[in-house]
Amino acid sequence: MNAGPWLPVPPNGYGGIENIVATLVPELRALGIEVVLATVGESTLPADERVHAFGTGQFEMLQRPYNQACGVVPAHQAAVLRRIAAGDIDLVHDHVEAAGLTMLAALGTGGPPGLHTLHWDLRKHPDLYGTFDGGARVRVNGVSADQLTHAPEALRAHAIGHVHLATPLAIDADRRAKAEKHGYAVVLGRINAGKGQDLAAELAHRHGFDLVLAGPVGPYHSPEALAAADLQNPDVRFWHERVAPHVDGVRVRWVGTVAGQERDDLVAGARAALFPLRWNEPGGTAVVESLALGTPVVGIARGCLPELIEHGRTGLLTTDSDELGELMHAVGGLVEAECRAEAARRFTPAVMAAGYADLYRRMVVS
Ligand code: UDP
Repeated sequence: MNAGPWLPVPPNGYGGIENIVATLVPELRALGIEVVLATVGESTLPADERVHAFGTGQFEMLQRPYNQACGVVPAHQAAVLRRIAAGDIDLVHDHVEAAGLTMLAALGTGGPPGLHTLHWDLRKHPDLYGTFDGGARVRVNGVSADQLTHAPEALRAHAIGHVHLATPLAIDADRRAKAEKHGYAVVLGRINAGKGQDLAAELAHRHGFDLVLAGPVGPYHSPEALAAADLQNPDVRFWHERVAPHVDGVRVRWVGTVAGQERDDLVAGARAALFPLRWNEPGGTAVVESLALGTPVVGIARGCLPELIEHGRTGLLTTDSDELGELMHAVGGLVEAECRAEAARRFTPAVMAAGYADLYRRMVVS
């Protein structure tokens, strides 16, 4: 399993891909699958065996075509390739965006088959994988049907299906104690234009509901850190120009990045988790976490949201951003237990691991 050169597994707070790898690996081991984990040295997930490449890297490679991936990534991939050369790996499951495919292609026909999990929405990056030829032994899976359907043709030619994301919070979610609900809405996630915190803040003032924003602004995790931020960073600019003018500390608050129990309490105590999306959310970990914590989702019906949320039962979706504010007033009618039961049925680590084990089986026998 190649988790990449970025953040530890599990991450401290924010970290979508690393959270998923941390959730998946123990479940695969419980199914009797031996997993060698390639990750950064600070990772704390118990390892039967691990390829420790080096410290935390950058997200730079997202800007580059797969065959020009830069910086620390090739060094990481080289360490993984050296480990694969030992010859006892039956399949490589890669989570490293475009650069990971370079590595899978480098395995050639002699190496084990490679499964590449897409974690990003590629509609705006059609060229990122444009020249990928992949080879017959590489397969690609999505984290939602929507994401895979709209992936570049070069990748769709290798598609093997989709497996939704999962959360450990969904285990026994239906038996969790009811958290005391407050009136606020929460937006949990990276603060940027695609996630739409500016729209959420504007709606909070216009429709009169309290809003808590949680998550990093670029690499900055707290108001103190943001005070010394690089103003060239597009997320920092988005914050200053589009979000900060609405943040009055009363109606709309930003609490920085939250982790662990603090994150769970914040989400469980909310009337709704708001997803005012401008991008096509590919997998939505925060969406399934909200359901598991008994918090219905109010959001824009795009990306994976219509696959994860049943309108009228576990959330309220609309394609009209103006209508989102009105939905915030209607969401009180939804039943928390329905949200938790849905998470316990569809988004547990065991369900996700069974989905991947099925893909592995199909790839190894074919
Ligand atoms: N997250 C967190 N603290 C924060 C903001 C986000 O722990 O302050 C976590 C969140 O709970 C989720 C992950 O980071 O597990 C974000 O993954 P998601 O798929 O929702 O979004 P992505 O950033 O991958 O687009």
